[in-house]
Amino acid sequence: MHMKRLLKKYFGYDEFRPLQAEIIETVLNGGDTFALMPTGGGKSLCFQLPALRMEGIALVISPLIALMKDQVDGLRANGIGADFINSSLSAEEIRGVMRRIRQGDTKILYVAPERFASEGFQNFLRGITVSLIAVDEAHCISEWGHDFRPDYRNLGILKELYPQTPLIALTATATEKVRRDILEHLNIPHARVFVSSFNRENLNIRVINKKNAFAKLVKLLEDYRRESVIIYCFSRNETEEIAENLREHRFNARAYHAGMNPDERKSVQEQFVTDKITVIAATIAFGMGIDKPNVRLVVHYTFPKTLEGYYQEIGRAGRDGLSSECVMFYTYADVRKHEFFIDQVGDKSQQRIQRNKLEEVIRFAGLSTCRKKHLLKYFGEHLPGMNCGSCDNCLTDRESFDATIIAQKILSAVVRTGHRFGRDHVVTVLLGERTPKIADTGHDSLSVFGIAGDFTADALKDIFQQLADRGYLARNEGELPTYALSPRGAEFLRSR
Ligand code: ADP
Ligand code: ZN
Repeated sequence: MHMKRLLKKYFGYDEFRPLQAEIIETVLNGGDTFALMPTGGGKSLCFQLPALRMEGIALVISPLIALMKDQVDGLRANGIGADFINSSLSAEEIRGVMRRIRQGDTKILYVAPERFASEGFQNFLRGITVSLIAVDEAHCISEWGHDFRPDYRNLGILKELYPQTPLIALTATATEKVRRDILEHLNIPHARVFVSSFNRENLNIRVINKKNAFAKLVKLLEDYRRESVIIYCFSRNETEEIAENLREHRFNARAYHAGMNPDERKSVQEQFVTDKITVIAATIAFGMGIDKPNVRLVVHYTFPKTLEGYYQEIGRAGRDGLSSECVMFYTYADVRKHEFFIDQVGDKSQQRIQRNKLEEVIRFAGLSTCRKKHLLKYFGEHLPGMNCGSCDNCLTDRESFDATIIAQKILSAVVRTGHRFGRDHVVTVLLGERTPKIADTGHDSLSVFGIAGDFTADALKDIFQQLADRGYLARNEGELPTYALSPRGAEFLRSR
C-alpha cells in the first residue's frame, strides 16, 4: 500500500510533516537513521508507520515508562497491535505480552532500556523477528546530554544483536557533541542524519527581570484570561504556592508535580487538556507526552537549568502554529537554587557538565543580541537574517529603530513647512491628506508629504506631542501654538 494511504488509514493525516517521508523511506530501505526533530515535529510516526509495513515486530526503546501505556493505548485505538514491557508490569503480565507477541498480534513493542541487560529478555528476543529498532529520546545515551540515563549505555548491544535490522535514533534535543555520542554509542556511525529546523517562528521569546515577580506574573496573565498557560516552577512548593496565589486573583490555576498522587495528576492534566483548567503551575514533570495544541503562554518563573530543557519546555507553546509567548523570569539569585542541587551530584564529571549547562542558561539570559540565533546555534543550527523579529532583543531593536524613523519624519516635516505651523497641520502633511489648507500652502509638493501615511492621525499627534515634551520641538506661543525645531531637535536630525 502506498505510504500516504497508510498515513491516512492508520493516523488520519493527509500529508507528511517535513522530513517524515524521507526518514520513513530510509528506514523502509533498511538504513540506519538519526532523526533530530523538535518536540511536536512528529517523530513517532517515523517508526510507527514503517513498523506497519515491515515484517516482524518493531522494538521501541523509551525511557518514559509513564508514557508507554498511553502510547500503546493510542496505537491500539487506531487498530495497531501494540504492547509494552517495563517495570510497571508483573512477571505474569510480561509473560502475557510475550505470549501475544509469539502469536503474532503485535507490530510495535515499547520496551524500557534496562530490559536489554536481562538475559531472559535477550533470549526471548532471539525467538522473534524484529522489523526495526527505534531508540526514542536518544540523547539519554550521552552524558553530555541533559538527561543522561546509564541504562541507555547498554543499547550499543542492539546493533550487535541485530546487525541487519534498521535502527532509528530519535531526539528533540542534541548539541553537536551529543549527536556524535548517539551515533557512536549506538554503533551506527553511517546512519543517515536528518535534522529538521528547530526554529519555531510562532514563538515570541523574552527574558524579564524577576523583581516583583508575582505582580508581573499577574499582569502578564491578565492578557491570557481565557487561554492555556503553563508556568514552570522550581519546586513542588513553588507550584502549590503560585497556583494558590493565582486562584486568589481569580485565575483558574492548579499545581502539577511528581509528588501528587497519580490519579490527581491525571485529573489535573485531563482538565487542562480539555480547557477546564487554564493555568498550570508545574515542575518540569509536566508536559512530557501531553499534546495540547493551544498553549498560548509558557512562563519560566524560575529559569531552567539547561537550554535543552528550556527549548523543550517552550516547545509546548503554540503547537498549532499560532503566535504564542514564552517568558523567562531571571534573577541571578536563582542560580544558587540550581547550584544547591548540582553540589549534591555525586559524580564529579556529571557535576561539571551540569555546571557548564547552567552557565549556558545564564549567558542566554544576559544576551543583548538575538536570543533565537543563540539558542539555535547552541543546537547547531544557523538562523539566517539579522533580526528574528520574535525575541525581546530583536523586537526592542526594531521598536527603537522604528521610533527613530518616525521621529525624524516628524521633525523634518516641521523644518520643511518652515517652523510656522501647528501640530495638526504638520500631521496632515505627514499623512498626505489633501485639505484646503494643504492646497493653500502648497505643502503637497513637499518631499515629506504623505511619508507617514501608514500611521493614524492620533498616533502621529501623540508622537509629535512627545517630541515637544522632550524638547525636540520648541513651542511658539501664540493664539494657536506653532512649533519650530529646537537645537536639540536639530542635533537629533544631524546625528542620526
Ligand atoms: P514528537 O514525538 O516529535 O514530539 P509526536 O510524534 O508526538 O511528536 O507528534 C506530535 C503530534 O503531531 C501528534 O499529535 C501527532 O499525531 C501529530 N502528527 C504527526 N505527524 C503528523 C502529520 N503528518 N500530520 C498531522 N499531524 C501529525
Ligand atoms: Zn531575535
